[in-house]
Amino acid sequence: MLTTRPRGTSDILPGQVEKWQYLEQVIRRLCREYGYSEIRTPIFEHTELFERGVGETTDIVEKEMYTFRDRGDRSITLRPEGTAPAVRAYLESRLFAGPQPVKLYYIGPMFRYDRPQAGRYRQFHQFGVEVFGSHDPAVDAEVVAMAMDLYSRLGLSDLELHINSVGCPRCRPVLREKLQDFFRSRLDKLCPNCRDRLGRNPLRILDCKEKSCIQASEDAPTSLDYLCPECTSHFQAVLKYLEELGVAYTVDRRLVRGLDYYTHTAFEIMAPGIGAQNSIGGGGRYNGLVEACGGPAIPGIGYALGLERILLTMEQQGISFPRPPGLDVFLATADPAAQGQAMVLVQELRREGLAADRDYLGRSLKAQMKYAGKLEVGLVAILGSDELKRGVVALRDMATGSQEEIPLDRLGDEIKRRCAGIK
Ligand code: AMP
Repeated sequence: MLTTRPRGTSDILPGQVEKWQYLEQVIRRLCREYGYSEIRTPIFEHTELFERGVGETTDIVEKEMYTFRDRGDRSITLRPEGTAPAVRAYLESRLFAGPQPVKLYYIGPMFRYDRPQAGRYRQFHQFGVEVFGSHDPAVDAEVVAMAMDLYSRLGLSDLELHINSVGCPRCRPVLREKLQDFFRSRLDKLCPNCRDRLGRNPLRILDCKEKSCIQASEDAPTSLDYLCPECTSHFQAVLKYLEELGVAYTVDRRLVRGLDYYTHTAFEIMAPGIGAQNSIGGGGRYNGLVEACGGPAIPGIGYALGLERILLTMEQQGISFPRPPGLDVFLATADPAAQGQAMVLVQELRREGLAADRDYLGRSLKAQMKYAGKLEVGLVAILGSDELKRGVVALRDMATGSQEEIPLDRLGDEIKRRCAGIK
């Protein structure tokens, strides 16, 4: 146990972490260009927030949350998603009282007690955005286009964007009734969970992954058949904007978000080819959520993308990552008596903005050169007592093997000059 991490978690080690840093860098740039500001909320929240904000009939709340009592006997939950915390922060800090819309993004770990498999973990990471305060269909289209823009900046291709409208509290009751009528005659074909859902939340049956339920709901009525005129024109406007932006989509009538506060646009992005867990992102409009969390009636829309699945898809599509920069120079000491000066010199080089390191294991000069080779450092500065007396170091180009004496006071500049040539 001591040397084993909990199931469904991972260590992101050097070699991998550079890919994450690159991904985060592309995301942060994207968000800046689209006018989003970062928000960082706690890793844990009061359990009630998720019960209310994610919904008590969802799989997340029913069976996937990491919930515990803290020492003050409060029920605390490790966040399973980022929207409810963003809504809470928006309300708690009264961001609704400032200029609208408020455009927020987050990147961070989420926790769900799910059955781990390829692409599905118990601690995973999401990048998400939330826009509060606008019901304009242009926002829906821009939010979708922004997610697609990220994938394309990363070099991903062949993704499928599915989009639907789930209606609003005005048209949903009609659909509810039609669905209940439809499934009542097919009760024996539904899984026990869905039989249970029929009374409370029949929309979620369309979302069930059980084979029998998928079959039973093949000809079920869908939200598009019963949209009210306002929802119809909103949806048509979103689709028209997407066409104008050149974003390809498929209308998917089966795509649902079965909770009352999810309204209008719902979308999901799939990466065929990464296995069963092929949803790499999803989102939608939630005009009822802020109110359900105790705030004013303010519309909202957002999405969340799974970072592990994005990286998985990039690897599967053979996309290369930029090479992470390593050390600019390694300082090797030929004489143990020069250790003190080596330490000072490395520190000076770092102050000049160079990435520099040296030996800390008392290795011979030969072993230090070998070590520098393993680190794939382009330049090694060799410091011997004779050179020190003369105020120079030998600078070795590891690729060509050529070596040159450089005055100590010019060392930093010379390294910079040579690195600029390589980079
Ligand atoms: P959701 O918050 O369930 O709408 O999920 C949004 C995205 O997060 C999904 O499209 C996945 O890419 C990712 N995701 C959700 N659950 C997991 C999980 N257990 N492990 C890894 N990624 C996940």
